[in-house]
Amino acid sequence: MTPKNPSCGNSVKNFSNLRAITPVDRGLPVNALALSLFFLLATSAFVRAGENEPQLAAIKTHVETLASPEYGGRAGEVAAKSRTYLIEAFQKLKLEPLFNGSWYQDIPGREAGSVAGRNVGAKIIGSDPKLKDEWVIVAAHFDHVGVINGVLFPGADDNASAVAMLLETARCLQQGEKPKRSVMLIGFDLEERGLVGSRYFVEHSPVPLDRVALFVTADMIGRALGGVAKSYVFVMGTEHYPPSLGWVKKASEAEKQLDVGILGADLLLIDRSDYGPFRSRKIPFLFFSTGENPCYHRPTDVAATLDYPKAEAISRVMYRVILSAINAPAKPTWTSPAQIDVAEAKTLRDIFKLLLANRDSMKIGRTPVYLMESSFKLLDTVIERGSVTASERASLIRVAQIVMAAVF
Ligand SMILES: [Zn+2]
Repeated sequence: MTPKNPSCGNSVKNFSNLRAITPVDRGLPVNALALSLFFLLATSAFVRAGENEPQLAAIKTHVETLASPEYGGRAGEVAAKSRTYLIEAFQKLKLEPLFNGSWYQDIPGREAGSVAGRNVGAKIIGSDPKLKDEWVIVAAHFDHVGVINGVLFPGADDNASAVAMLLETARCLQQGEKPKRSVMLIGFDLEERGLVGSRYFVEHSPVPLDRVALFVTADMIGRALGGVAKSYVFVMGTEHYPPSLGWVKKASEAEKQLDVGILGADLLLIDRSDYGPFRSRKIPFLFFSTGENPCYHRPTDVAATLDYPKAEAISRVMYRVILSAINAPAKPTWTSPAQIDVAEAKTLRDIFKLLLANRDSMKIGRTPVYLMESSFKLLDTVIERGSVTASERASLIRVAQIVMAAVF
C-alpha cells in the first residue's frame, strides 16, 4: 500500500489542542516536582478516587517501550522480549495465567515440533457464582512486521497503542471492583501474518466458545484515518449485538473531543484484525480502531508522533464498555441479520466530507471522489428517515469498499 502523505505527526497537535490533558487540567500546579508526582501517581499502584481508568502516562510508557529499537519491531528473535513484557505486567498485577497454568499458548509451525509464535494470556475469575462461567475477552496483537532490509518498523500505533490499552484495562480491572463475569486478557501473536494467533486461539480456546460473551479488541488507536479524521475512532460489531451500541454511546459521553464512528464490519472487504475469527464463529465482538493512516506499516510509525490524549480517551471508552459487558445481567448473543443503526450513515457522511475536503493533499482519484459525492443524497435520505433499507445498504457497502480500496 502506497501512503499518499509521508507526514504522520500532525495528528498529535490537533487532538491535543482539542483537549490537552496536562496536570493543569487535573488541578495540579505546573512545576517539575508536581509533574513527576503526577506521572508517579499515574503509573503506580496507587490510584486516586475516581481515577481508576486507563491513564495517559502509563499508555505512553508502554508504547515507548514496545516501539523502542530493543523490541525489534516485535518480530523475529526479539519477539520473545515483548511477550515477556506482557507477562511481567500480568505478574505484577497478580493475574492468573490463562492457558492451563501457563502464560503461553504455542502456535505450531509448519515443520513438526516447531513453534511459529506464541499467544500470551492472563485471566481474572468473575465474582458472580452464576456469571463467572461466562467470559469477556479483551485482546490486542503485540506483533508487528519487524526489521525489513535493515530498517526498523517500530509499530507504535500498530499495535503498541492497543497493547497499552490492554495492559491498562488489566490494571484497572484488577484494582477496581471485582468483575461479575470472568475476563481473559490476551496478547495475540502473528496477526500481521494473517490473524494466525487469533485463528489458532479460536480452534484451541481454553474454554468452550459458547461461553464467550463478548470479544473486544483494538488495532491502532493512536492516529487518524488518512491523517485527517483526527477526532475519530471507529467501532465495528455493534450491529451483531445492538445493546452494545448503547454501551458505546454511554461510555463516550464524557469524551467530548472524541467522535465515535459506528460502522458495520461488512463495509470492509476482509476482516482487518483479530476480530475476524470470532466474527466467523458468530461470537459477539467489538473492534476499535482509528484506521489506516500515512504511517501505517512504515518506519515512521514511531512513539514520538502518537496522539496520546486520543489513545487515552479511546482506552477509557473501551474500559467502560468492557465494564458494561462483564457486569450486564444478560449474556450478549449474536444478532443476525445485522442490525444497522442510522449512526453508520452519519459516520460515512462525515468521513466522506472529510476525505473530499482533503482530496488534493491526499491525492484522491476521480472515481472515489465521484462515488463519495454522489452518495450524499442517499446518505441524507437514510439519516432523515432514521433507517436504511437492504438495497440502500448494499449500495453504501459498494461505495465504502471501493473508496477504502482506492484511497487507503
Ligand atoms: Zn495491527
